Amino acid sequence: MTEIDPFAESPGLQRVTVRGAREHNLRSIDVDIPRDALVAFTGVSGSGKSSLAFGTIYGEAQRRFFESVAPYARRLIDQVGVPDVDSIDGLPPAVALPQRRSGGTARSSVGSATTVANVLRMLYSRIGTYPPGAPMLFAEDFSTNTVQGACPTCHGLGRVYDVPLELMVPDDSLSIRERALAAWPTAWHGKQLQDSLISLGYDIDVPWRDLPADKRDWVLYTQESPQVPIFTDRSPKEVRKAVAAGVEPRYMSTFLGVKRYVMDTFAGSKSARMREKAAGFMVSVRCPSCGGKRLKPEALAVTFEGADITEVSAMPLDDVVRLMEKVLAPGWGASAPHELPPEKRLAAQRLVTELLGRLAPITDLGLGYLSLDRTTSTLSSGELQRMRLATQVLSRLFGVVFVLDEPSAGLHPADTEALLRILRSLRDSGNTVYYVEHSLDVIRAADWIVDIGPGAGADGGTVVYSGEIDGLRDVEKSATRRYLFDGSGGEPREKRARRSGDARLTLEDVRRNNLADVSVSFPLGAFTAITGVSGSGKSTLINHGIPDLLRADLASRTDEVDDESEPLAQDPLDAEAPVATTGRASGPADRVRRVVQVTQKPIGRTPRSNVATYTGVFDRIRSRFAATPEARRRRYGASRFSFNVASGRCPVCKGEGMIEVELLFLPTVHAPCTACGGTRYNQETLEIRLNGKTIADVLALSVTSARAFFEEDAEIVQHLDALLDVGLGYISLGQSATELSGGEAQRVKLASELRRAPRGDTLYLLDEPTSGLHPADSDRLIGHLQRLVDGGNTVIVVEHDMRVVAEVDWVIDLGPGAGDAGGQVVAAGTPEEVAGRAESRTAPFLQAALA
Ligand code: ADP
Ligand code: ADP
Ligand code: ZN
Ligand code: ZN
Repeated sequence: MTEIDPFAESPGLQRVTVRGAREHNLRSIDVDIPRDALVAFTGVSGSGKSSLAFGTIYGEAQRRFFESVAPYARRLIDQVGVPDVDSIDGLPPAVALPQRRSGGTARSSVGSATTVANVLRMLYSRIGTYPPGAPMLFAEDFSTNTVQGACPTCHGLGRVYDVPLELMVPDDSLSIRERALAAWPTAWHGKQLQDSLISLGYDIDVPWRDLPADKRDWVLYTQESPQVPIFTDRSPKEVRKAVAAGVEPRYMSTFLGVKRYVMDTFAGSKSARMREKAAGFMVSVRCPSCGGKRLKPEALAVTFEGADITEVSAMPLDDVVRLMEKVLAPGWGASAPHELPPEKRLAAQRLVTELLGRLAPITDLGLGYLSLDRTTSTLSSGELQRMRLATQVLSRLFGVVFVLDEPSAGLHPADTEALLRILRSLRDSGNTVYYVEHSLDVIRAADWIVDIGPGAGADGGTVVYSGEIDGLRDVEKSATRRYLFDGSGGEPREKRARRSGDARLTLEDVRRNNLADVSVSFPLGAFTAITGVSGSGKSTLINHGIPDLLRADLASRTDEVDDESEPLAQDPLDAEAPVATTGRASGPADRVRRVVQVTQKPIGRTPRSNVATYTGVFDRIRSRFAATPEARRRRYGASRFSFNVASGRCPVCKGEGMIEVELLFLPTVHAPCTACGGTRYNQETLEIRLNGKTIADVLALSVTSARAFFEEDAEIVQHLDALLDVGLGYISLGQSATELSGGEAQRVKLASELRRAPRGDTLYLLDEPTSGLHPADSDRLIGHLQRLVDGGNTVIVVEHDMRVVAEVDWVIDLGPGAGDAGGQVVAAGTPEEVAGRAESRTAPFLQAALA
């Protein structure tokens, strides 16, 4: 390559100069990257883009930040590691927006994460309509997460436990002595409670239903806990006489009503068995005092434009904007029914202006279909990243470098323009924006491109090109160039005939989230893509509509790949009220015998599960270590090489490889364990080597390198090839499951699935399988899916990349808009048919891809 300095023509241009970067696979690269610009980092998966953008540039900025805020953080920096680079000059402070899911707290919502909720609470406090005579509340009184605001009955959970009558008294023909009160304890304590009732004048030998209603209610529901005299060895009649005569009882006992007994036992018993038994008499119901709204009644009574704060929080943001805009209209608040004094009107307009200002970047990024109360844990990783991006715009930072991981993930081409507007506004307000990206439209919008590669892993790690986009046109060896400038990837497409499928599957009246009585049908034995703007309902259809209805229909035939992902342990009260999918499925019964959802959900929630354990290749690798002569001599079995088994693992970090470091004023960070150097194993285990490598060395290998290392081992190679086929050659075998992006987790699952023998009667459902993939990798992945279909299976994907949509057999376009403005089938047919439909927002983009 000829050495031309792309900065030569504009010497005044500010730049970040990186010298000698060697992080991961980077081959001691030197590169100058402009500041105050949009810069795209491109290259095939595993080429080293992230190692440069995140590992080196962001890593170094973070190290400097630590050093500047906390001199004592030296130790931390030593542990977290310094990027392997000779020098970086001209580097501004950095903010990273990675895709990896860092589990936000369960209670974090769109409103709290974007701080819009704070302004809304202020607005209700200051200018809400209060009931006559009610005192003005503080902003905190409108938060379900504060003691002041939470509904006192359910403590802000929206649901409460109830002990229903039919569980307390399953058979009312029994007497109390015959244990009509089933929820009461048995044995000694039960006898004592029965004796208490005798002393209190109850007849415990008549059927429960024959007791007077007020007496029954008292036994079941009293909150009192009276001390009752207990006489043993006397008949009920004698007991009553003794009580009346004031005879000294044998002892006094505390009486507890049935409901109170169940609740107290559940909340306070030391015995897990007792708590469990009590739970059997309880159900969780919507809180009767707040109606599930989680807020105290005084706060719910305050309204704005007729809605309480929880109602506004549940609206799509687009509707909140419309509601608030009314306030800015001339004449608002000047007349009944909401007449306000001028100073209040002014305050309202200020707060509303502030609120609209905060909502604008969020709705601009195509997230107007979300509501403020939506928990962030239910957002897709792309939605989460865009929400964070919107929040950054609001923070009005300048002089910062933003490092983003695939900001276009999950975006329909029609939404891309809005994303670019936000990125440009960050740049124009004095920031630098670096992004790792695969979407050709977003790459083309950059002022500068840094193309890394040319290949992955050891075949990559060099700067193929750094300069203005147009200059890449002449760089032969760039994989990106082929797609950026002629779309086809340089190689003529294999022209397939569109399949029409051998039968159809029909779903009718599907209802879930924004899908309202939708009917769709898909060809079986064909490849279908679901398209539509973000929020139109694609994920809902592929993750719930199709599998839920088929599961109901095929019941026993269904089998999920996702079963391994551990559910989050949680209190049943924390769970949302269950949401159901309704509708009907019909189709030939024997054509789909298995439904496999390959989702982007994490493959495991602990660092103990990783790519090698999930795919099963680790079992094979461990047995190879156990078979070495030294291991046999020491009698180390295969389990010794698992970091989950005490004999083999590091005793300090218990095989996690990481320890938590608590920092004053900073979030807790995980740092490599110093005892084992992050290897997870104890010294003795690490003394065993297989062809020169320890078990920890092998876990650190990328899939590509491991493929070379185990070349002779057909069984292991077969596993690794499956991972290579889905473009995961760059992932290390020990990469912890919690650090995989949604797209990577999905591809790991897909690899396990592709390795199985194809059966020809399976329906595969994939939500955005190409996210995070370079067009070259995405072509390869789609090739595999095409082969599954050639084998008689059915594949349905959600897809935004029109290059892919142009290749499928059938397209279902949802929309027309997002949220309530979507949820309909706008067009369905072959790609050519959908491309010709004027009412589809996808059509023009699809048409361009078909041309
Ligand atoms: P890209 O962002 O282009 O997909 P990466 O920068 O993530 O590529 O990876 C480049 C190379 O570095 C790959 O070969 C990958 O296996 C390796 N690599 C990535 N992360 C690590 C890590 N934490 N430890 C060791 N190697 C890594
Ligand atoms: P797409 O996949 O097309 O981007 P989704 O299916 O994710 O769209 O969302 C469709 C609609 O359903 C949106 O209005 C979204 O806010 C809503 N929605 C999706 N998931 C949930 C959820 N877990 N809870 C409430 N609403 C949801
Ligand atoms: Zn409540
Ligand atoms: Zn350790």
